[in-house]
Amino acid sequence: MATPDGRPPDLQPAGTLYINQGGRVTCTTHGGGYLQAAAGQQRYVDGDHITTPLDDWEVFSPEVVAEDGLECETCARGGHR
Ligand SMILES: [Zn+2]
Repeated sequence: MATPDGRPPDLQPAGTLYINQGGRVTCTTHGGGYLQAAAGQQRYVDGDHITTPLDDWEVFSPEVVAEDGLECETCARGGHR
């Protein structure tokens, strides 16, 4: 099931962020195609790892993002879509 604008469905709640092993923090939008595709196929929770051909991302829920004050390094927002 695709969204009206053609993007893959997003199963992650708004505000979810991902951190790779190099410490890079990103939202779904700025995590690249592999992460977007993976995030649209399965619901992940805190501490889960999404392994893509390029990276290993640890999932941070919106609640943890808010508590820890994390933000996407690209758009500097707390896990917007
Ligand atoms: Zn972002």
